[in-house]
Amino acid sequence: MPAVVRDVPGAGGVREANAAAVLGAVRVGGPLSRAAIARHTGLSMPTVSRQVAALIDLGLLCEVAGQAETRAVGRPTVPVDLHDDLIAACGVHVGITTTTYGLTNLRGSLLGSERIATPPGAPEKVLRHIAGEVTAFLARWPQRRIIGVGFAIGGQVDAERGLLDHERLAWRGVAARTVLEQVTGLPVYLDGHVPAMAAAELLFGASGRAASSLYFYAREMVGVAVATHGRLHRGPGQSGSIAHLPVGTDVACTCGRTGCLEATVAESAVLGRAMRAGVIGTADMGLLRGAAEAGDPEADRILAERARALGRAVGLVRDVVNPELVVLGGQAITDAPGYLEELLRSFAETTALPGTGIVEVTRFGPDVQAMAACTGLLTQLYDHPLSVLGA
Ligand SMILES: [Zn+2]
Repeated sequence: MPAVVRDVPGAGGVREANAAAVLGAVRVGGPLSRAAIARHTGLSMPTVSRQVAALIDLGLLCEVAGQAETRAVGRPTVPVDLHDDLIAACGVHVGITTTTYGLTNLRGSLLGSERIATPPGAPEKVLRHIAGEVTAFLARWPQRRIIGVGFAIGGQVDAERGLLDHERLAWRGVAARTVLEQVTGLPVYLDGHVPAMAAAELLFGASGRAASSLYFYAREMVGVAVATHGRLHRGPGQSGSIAHLPVGTDVACTCGRTGCLEATVAESAVLGRAMRAGVIGTADMGLLRGAAEAGDPEADRILAERARALGRAVGLVRDVVNPELVVLGGQAITDAPGYLEELLRSFAETTALPGTGIVEVTRFGPDVQAMAACTGLLTQLYDHPLSVLGA
């Protein structure tokens, strides 16, 4: 993802690539001895030793005490592993209603997270407010070296210029990176929220093991991202949209057509339907799920219809992309485990390709937004460790 990393020195390309290879080998298989790293990466022993020393200096790796392997000949070798306790990545996800931020260590384990209502108002004021909250949150980890802020959002992201367009929030050409860097004093990396979530799956989820994968996200917005051989496909504007994919419902969309995916499955649309049907009095997904669990047939019908529309969409996109693996994420899926079967049935009825057992649900659950924003930054770090740490 070279578009996202700024100021990558061309001359340091080989050194950077070697450092990334060493770091990647330890991330996947650590703790590892230097000899094992050389075997995994195909690099020479002197190169591995040099890179390990540099990565230890940067605080990314550490020698693992008490795990020395004694070789038959020569001095014992001390394996190295990721340094869990020092470096951390902050992530911020701005959603239409909820803003989530968190901090993860190098392994993508969430150290803490908070959520606030996305404040109303002019975009710059909103971003300043959020950045202030994030700065206060980060002050809780004085012992951590926080390498930056991954910022993930729906809409169109111009990562290179640091600009955002978000139709649903009515943001146009917002200089988000400048504002966020001013307030937090940290480097900020913008990304589309769906590509960021897909990157998290590649780094720490099931997608990392598949030759090709499709990530499908649904909550208030819907989106997909495609990865092959460990790399995300990023088209113009960083993220495409399947908001208007026709899924055959009778729901009217703001685009003038009926049966568009997002208009059918968006949280606000589902809640609106439930309120008009008199199932719930306030727009709250917890209430709607509770009503369905308590046996309200209308609540159940609304949630089942959403699951079927999602399943249809997953089937249609699967047939276009033909991935080895499909990963489902977002609260429309992770908060509705009781409707997963309905979704998978609809998927199986829609897809025309053989094999329907390729669909998995993300392991990130409801933390997906904060995790994804952090992991977007970690992806940058694992790809370009020297540049991201200013080495
Ligand atoms: Zn539409």
